[in-house]
Amino acid sequence: MRSHYCGGINESHIDQEVTLCGWVHRRRDHGGVIFLDLRDRDGIAQVVVDPDTPESFQLAEKVRSEFVVRITGRVRRRPAGTENANMATGQVEVLGRELTILNAAATPPFPLDEYVDVGEDVRLRYRFLDLRRPEMLNRLRFRSKVTSYIRNYLDNKGFLDVETPILTRATPEGARDYLVPSRTHEGSFFALPQSPQLFKQLLMVSGFDRYYQIAKCFRDEDLRADRQPEFTQIDIEASFVNEEDLMGVTEGMVRELFRDLLQVDLPAFPRMPYAEAMQRFGSDKPDLRIPLELVDVADLVEGVDFKVFAAPAKDPKGRVAALRLPKGGELSRKQIDDYTKFVGIYGAKGLAYIKVNELAKGAEGLQSPIVKFLGNEVALAIIERVGAQDGDIVFFGADKTTVVNEALGALRVKLGHDLDLMTAAWAPMWVVDFPMFEETDSGKLTAIHHPFTAPSCGPDELAAAPETALSRAYDMVLNGTELGGGSIRIHDGNMQQAVFNILGIDETEARAKFGFLLDALRFGCPPHGGLAFGLDRLIMLMTGASSIRDVIAFPKTQSATCLMTQAPGTVEEKQLRELHIKLRKPPVAAPAAADAETPKDA
Ligand code: ASP
Repeated sequence: MRSHYCGGINESHIDQEVTLCGWVHRRRDHGGVIFLDLRDRDGIAQVVVDPDTPESFQLAEKVRSEFVVRITGRVRRRPAGTENANMATGQVEVLGRELTILNAAATPPFPLDEYVDVGEDVRLRYRFLDLRRPEMLNRLRFRSKVTSYIRNYLDNKGFLDVETPILTRATPEGARDYLVPSRTHEGSFFALPQSPQLFKQLLMVSGFDRYYQIAKCFRDEDLRADRQPEFTQIDIEASFVNEEDLMGVTEGMVRELFRDLLQVDLPAFPRMPYAEAMQRFGSDKPDLRIPLELVDVADLVEGVDFKVFAAPAKDPKGRVAALRLPKGGELSRKQIDDYTKFVGIYGAKGLAYIKVNELAKGAEGLQSPIVKFLGNEVALAIIERVGAQDGDIVFFGADKTTVVNEALGALRVKLGHDLDLMTAAWAPMWVVDFPMFEETDSGKLTAIHHPFTAPSCGPDELAAAPETALSRAYDMVLNGTELGGGSIRIHDGNMQQAVFNILGIDETEARAKFGFLLDALRFGCPPHGGLAFGLDRLIMLMTGASSIRDVIAFPKTQSATCLMTQAPGTVEEKQLRELHIKLRKPPVAAPAAADAETPKDA
């Protein structure tokens, strides 16, 4: 139907006849001549239709925004002074000879020819129109480049792309499963995979040696800003490898990807044990661009009368930490109040601080609501430990360790962004030496990564002190975002059962849920390991998008619905009966359905 993309014509086509197809981005009637900006996925071309071609001219008068048209005409240089240096096609225009309207279009719910701030709900409801906007299209085009680059990289390294099932049994990654009822097996359900974890391990047992897949994963979680119920992983597994091999190949992949697609040379990836990351940054995904650190001061305050500090300082599960903000003395009362509210989100009951006005005056030179409770000597000892200088402010967290880490960890990042403290554009790193388990609120142990991660010790040692055991897991972190994580896996049945035991899964339950894995471990399972990257987050970071929804063609909302298709939706009674399902309550219409409307025709 066409000879060129609109965005592809340039001075080399002058005097050639071209046929373009696309959407009318904008129509301008210049008294006697009509200009149509014609848009397709590659860009915009200016088309001129004049009354010398009366039939086309009459059609051009009828054309409106977003009509789909085809135009044949000659490329010519734009008259001097009318060139547009901001457009790739800005030196030329097409003198339209034959215009065909391929389809009319209703007035779009938001203009596409200029940037307007449209509510995300409207954008998601009319996603097919939103995706016409160049910034959206370009992000998805970039995403396509990334997946193609990664496939190529892994293919060249001998990895085989193997698909794994979507209808399967639960694959535990710590979230709730999406379930699919079986029609043919009454009362039974498939689960959608939270990741291909067990299948990729089984492929290693089968001898595939190196596997990858760009895989859809499904997790029914309470959604946070950067999560989606279905998301994409670059999933990798290999046999006869250790941590170094896996970290090497994947670090190389990310480094080359950034070099070739963004022309960015990433700095070295430092490795940091989990314990150190929590200690210094209060986070297992520290943003190393921000030059602020948490400093422990519990030993200095455990003897003071001030309970707020002394109690957590003495509690083995408590922490008292200080965060020095150089030049933070300039913060206003209102800013400090806002930061106090902010740490409240993470459970902190307050945000104590000391401003250092003039250190030469000793405690007199400190300004703070808490110095009188701490005593001058302790206050000055803290100031010395954190290295605070005149003009600085020191914030404090004193609570359960998890609360202090989350609150001060988040405050550190927020200060870094608010006050523009970034020391580099990109700060990649590896976090290693994770604990195997963490304690839940109910006091039970759960796997930090997943139950198939190998510990750094043997089964007896593990059983003796599971709380302190470390795992052979590693996470790749970039600018405070976890890009990917993985581990060396358990390849021995006894060790696997030892981990299940610690998680409270006895042999009968293990057999019922993971019998196939336990069998596979008995039939010659090679040592193996792998890792998975979150593709959506990777693209978000690389494109600078502010939400992962902006790098996914058809994302769900934060309440896990699709505003466009209105999924999830109710189904007919007949379908439910076939699936042997009886609802406990009558169905509630999905929120998406409530205010959907169809645009009027133009
Ligand atoms: N299956 C893990 C995940 O989805 C990644 C891995 O261990 O390879 O997080």
